[in-house]
Amino acid sequence: MKRASIIFAFAVFIPALLLGGLALRSLRDQRLAFERQRFQLAQDAADALAKSLAGEVDEMQRDFGRRAEAIIGTNTPALAAWSFDEQLRQTWPLAEVGFSVRLGAEVCSPSVFDKREVSRSFHRLNRDFLTGVECVEVFAVTPKGRISLSSPPTTAAPQKQQADLVRNVLPTQGGDESPASLRSRLQTSAADFKQLVGDAQEGIVARRMPDQLDLLIWHRSARDSQVVFGAQLERSQLVARLAPRLETDPSFRSEFGVALLDERVTPLARTPASFNAVSWRRPFAASEVGESLPHWEVAVYELDPTKPAVAAATLRWTFAALITGLLAAIAIGGWLVVQETRREVLLARRKTDFVSNVSHELKTPLTSIRMFAELLAEGRVTDPERRRQHLEVIAVESARLTRLVDGVLDFARLERGGAAPTLKRLDLAGLIHDTLALHEPRLRSAGFEVHTRLPAGPVTVRGNADALAQIIVNLISNVEKYAADGHDLTLELKTDPGERSEPARACLSVADRGPGIPTACSGRIFEEFYRVHDTLDSGVSGAGLGLSLAQRLAQVHQGALRHQPRPGGGAVFILEIPLA
Ligand code: ADP
Repeated sequence: MKRASIIFAFAVFIPALLLGGLALRSLRDQRLAFERQRFQLAQDAADALAKSLAGEVDEMQRDFGRRAEAIIGTNTPALAAWSFDEQLRQTWPLAEVGFSVRLGAEVCSPSVFDKREVSRSFHRLNRDFLTGVECVEVFAVTPKGRISLSSPPTTAAPQKQQADLVRNVLPTQGGDESPASLRSRLQTSAADFKQLVGDAQEGIVARRMPDQLDLLIWHRSARDSQVVFGAQLERSQLVARLAPRLETDPSFRSEFGVALLDERVTPLARTPASFNAVSWRRPFAASEVGESLPHWEVAVYELDPTKPAVAAATLRWTFAALITGLLAAIAIGGWLVVQETRREVLLARRKTDFVSNVSHELKTPLTSIRMFAELLAEGRVTDPERRRQHLEVIAVESARLTRLVDGVLDFARLERGGAAPTLKRLDLAGLIHDTLALHEPRLRSAGFEVHTRLPAGPVTVRGNADALAQIIVNLISNVEKYAADGHDLTLELKTDPGERSEPARACLSVADRGPGIPTACSGRIFEEFYRVHDTLDSGVSGAGLGLSLAQRLAQVHQGALRHQPRPGGGAVFILEIPLA
């Protein structure tokens, strides 16, 4: 049995446990892969939107070029430069200030005396930079790409540059929070305007001012490369042009919100318009728009950040419950199989014991019969009294053999579910009296005191005389076999009116003063083939079928047979049969 348990553990339980563990692991891997995919989706959307916004800025750039050319018109660029601010603002609402510069010389427009404060302040703040007197740190880009200046950054640059290159958002899913993931892909350049313009025709310069970034778009006419026309973009107009580009498809929009963040991480536009992030600085994924709008980010936020975690937890718990259920089913099933196998093994062992017991039972009477028959056949016994005694032994032993074989056959018939004995009204008291009369002389000669307490009148039951006699004989013969030392056999028959719905019964008790049945075995003595001392050398022969057969016969009579210890020592077997 221990072996079966070990085989079960190694062949079924441990592999099932391992499979369960592997299933949980693969679930975790799948969840990670799903999260990665989700992040990739959000990141790709952010990248695409950032690219589209950069494209829109390029479109503005081209738009500006066309307008500048229109303003120059038939004039020379040098002439058109003087009134450029005023003329541009009239036709192009995106321009906050229009400017024109003669490279390395002077700012033509706006004038330092302009009537608008914003134009005057533009002139004041940008004059030195535009005329090449001062180098400033800028993000610059032309249609050929990012400006890369060969000149080394100005004195304080290295440290400042490091600070500039830090992104102002930190995506939650973008990986670790190391400085590397915080670093911006943009580069600043320290230069004056002339250097930035170089030999390009047009471009964008973002200049960091104390409170914000100023975006300058510039263009120069092919007719006069010394004059550069430009515009400082009006922020609200710029945002109004960019906002429609933030549109995402409905399935994406149901899960993610998208916002355009400026350099101070303020959301300038968002889709859906109503959504709000817990922290604008911590999007799910984000992408920088580029040098044309430095430090502006397209940020993607989860509308319900708990949703994937809740779904993952539900899936995890479902899996864990399934695996636990499976393991429990395997364990319970295994336990049941082991129990069943154990039962089968025990039964097989008892059957083997039964065969040896029956053989032993047969052998003893057969030996006596053969011995006495041979003696008689050889004619060596001449004394008629001795001959009669020998013949009597042969008769008694044959009867014993018949009883044994009958017992086994009866049991086999009941076991096969053969025809039940026919029941008739009969007097149980009379039957007990007659049956006992057959055995009493033998019992008395074996030293038994036989006490009978039977009612004076008949006790009528519906029964089969042979079957009931068989029960009584089995009980008496057990007393003879197991309780001979007690020298007492008491048979008592009473009637019991029965409680409430129970029918009135006849109760026969067969009591002895033998060793009794050990408490641990009392529940099992009615099982077939069960014997308390089941060894051939226990001295008492038997097949473990007597009580089992008697109990079945009692059940055929709608009755019962039970055992209880006898007060003062010994065993009592009680047979109950309903009264007719
Ligand atoms: P068998 O007598 O062939 O062994 P039984 O079914 O008649 O089979 O009895 C089962 C077991 O119950 C016996 O082996 C014996 O140990 C125990 N037993 C039965 N009757 C008595 C009794 N009167 N006193 C003590 N033990 C008994």
